[in-house]
Amino acid sequence: MVRFARCNALLSLAMDASGKGCRYVAKGASDDDVVKDMGEHLTSVHQVDPSEIPKANILATTKTNNG
Ligand SMILES: [Zn+2]
Repeated sequence: MVRFARCNALLSLAMDASGKGCRYVAKGASDDDVVKDMGEHLTSVHQVDPSEIPKANILATTKTNNG
């Protein structure tokens, strides 16, 4: 079972490094892993300080893939 969250569900106008809508999907075995993965992505790609994004907002976009 994998937990995942889409970057563009969190930052609706997020662009990736080539200026296209960001399709990054953060994944992890638990909510904390997803939050950590997304935080690293936000820092490295969007120059967003993850501490400015409430954890609840990330969790609100986090889903479970049972496949
Ligand atoms: Zn992104």
